[in-house]
Amino acid sequence: MISEKSEAIVIRAVPWSETSFVVTLFSKDFGKVSAVAKGARRLRSPFETSLDLLAKSHIVFIHKNNDTLDILTEAKLIRRFRSSQIALLPLYCGYYVAELLLALTEDHQKVGELYELADLTLQDLDAGKSPAELVMRFEMQLLKMLGHLPTFHLCASCGNHVESDEAGEETRLGIAAGGILCQNCLPGQRFVIRIRDQTFQTLIRFATAEWHQDPAAIDSEYRGEIRFVMEKFISNLADRHLRLTDFLEELKY
Ligand SMILES: [Zn+2]
Repeated sequence: MISEKSEAIVIRAVPWSETSFVVTLFSKDFGKVSAVAKGARRLRSPFETSLDLLAKSHIVFIHKNNDTLDILTEAKLIRRFRSSQIALLPLYCGYYVAELLLALTEDHQKVGELYELADLTLQDLDAGKSPAELVMRFEMQLLKMLGHLPTFHLCASCGNHVESDEAGEETRLGIAAGGILCQNCLPGQRFVIRIRDQTFQTLIRFATAEWHQDPAAIDSEYRGEIRFVMEKFISNLADRHLRLTDFLEELKY
């Protein structure tokens, strides 16, 4: 048993007993960690508000090197997620960030600067920045850091370069294949969607940007298509429909 320290964001908390929670934390140094927080449901909890959903804290936990849950021994609040006081949309976007981290990351695996990206996204939502671009940046950079970025120039099936005049005014993306498809590979591919060139260029812009850059604005005309594409890629990767996407309809306009 080793006592570990890190900074972490709470991405789930479920009652464990009358007095305890099992919390899932997305930590800076260890990735996703699930731990029992004993006494956290008591009126005078030793953890106070540090285990609220999306709160950021300094944590200390005991890592068990077997199948049993880790034990959270300390959590000291650094910052609360305040978007619930602004409006529902940024709040849902914050919950969506948590759902993505739960669905797509592995326990005890640090992924690049994903913690910093999640932290920045929550801060930017709290600051009232435009949610559509923040969600898009988070999704695209998450895919990039996980090594699942769709291909935008090379055919996802054969690997050949796809000429732009071959793609024409509409680009065909293979969701299951994982990116753009050339004419030769199109027949027989399942789950292919057509998108307009502007949508395609927006995807590329977000994919090639740095994770810490302020995202460029997305033209409202293409937002619906963008949400459609991102939802398809992500649900294909997660192998299920993510619940919070139903609450993000407003991002399409
Ligand atoms: Zn091909």
